[in-house]
Amino acid sequence: MPTDSPPAAPQTPRKGRALCLCSGGLDSLLGLCVLRAQGVHAEAVSFTSPFFADPAGVRRSCEELGFPLHLIDFTADILDLLRNPPSGFGSCLNPCIDCHARMIRRAWEFAQANGFDFVATGEVLGQRPMSQQRGPLNRVRNLSGAGGRLLRPLSAKLLDPTEPELEGLVDRERLLDLQGRNRKPQMELAKRFGIRHYPAPAGGCKLTEPNYCRRLRNLMEHEGLDDLRLVEALNHGRHFRLPGGTLVVLGRDRADNEALRTAMRGGDAVLRSVNVPGPTALAVRPAEGDLPAIRRLVSAYSDHKGVDTVVVREFRPAARPVDHPEPVAARDEFAAFLL
Ligand code: SF4
Repeated sequence: MPTDSPPAAPQTPRKGRALCLCSGGLDSLLGLCVLRAQGVHAEAVSFTSPFFADPAGVRRSCEELGFPLHLIDFTADILDLLRNPPSGFGSCLNPCIDCHARMIRRAWEFAQANGFDFVATGEVLGQRPMSQQRGPLNRVRNLSGAGGRLLRPLSAKLLDPTEPELEGLVDRERLLDLQGRNRKPQMELAKRFGIRHYPAPAGGCKLTEPNYCRRLRNLMEHEGLDDLRLVEALNHGRHFRLPGGTLVVLGRDRADNEALRTAMRGGDAVLRSVNVPGPTALAVRPAEGDLPAIRRLVSAYSDHKGVDTVVVREFRPAARPVDHPEPVAARDEFAAFLL
């Protein structure tokens, strides 16, 4: 005689594990929150390089909201793209299409190695005139290699369904349909999710800053990008290119001075005033003919009130320092060489 078997327990669909690219900006934080709100396990990944903002901001935002954060060193990738950006640069030296695709590629590689089902970004369709239109979004997806495993939760309902949606790892109905440049919906969502700290949109990447890019372009034309300490020196002080071709970096404050002092390598010189306070100068493999001008430069930027002569001490690796008394020079002399 047949017995009644107990009714099968309803199957709860497994929720996915998402690795979300996170700059610390509002949209990327919202992407994380939207996924978590429907039960998806969401963790954040962010990228570091000498060109990007310090990760302290994104770390703080993720900590406040309780998202685990992974940091990936992106320096080699972005240097590679600066040398050869297949899709070209934006308005400065920002290879945004390729940079974004490469970040998603790196995130997807990390995701596959660490048990995530898909990657997500905080992109909003039409929010940026060039990079977030439908064509560029598709191009980035294709270049990244993530294909259908790339989800954009804030605009997902306006885009083709992705694999995690089709597999039921994510409920498409609970994703969003944000579009365009109006930030009001994001502000309201931020309140709802309790997001209090996030930087202004589009901040933090130096490759979009014209003054920074002028110095970077000059470095690329002369020394190139292979010497990472010179790339890092772009973040410190004033930069001069003297007539003999020497790059001189002059510190603006104590932190700059310390960074420049420790950046000295064989063939370089470091100079600073010793009888009055003043900046430290890193002269990168200085041309012999530029050395008198470098000493005058240090004297001009020193705090020389009340003295006629500045004693400029010149340091070379593995050599005794040498003092040079310099009559105080005028800063105007160097205006044409300032980068
Ligand atoms: S703004 Fe900077 S970090 Fe962002 S995609 Fe462009 S190059 Fe990359």
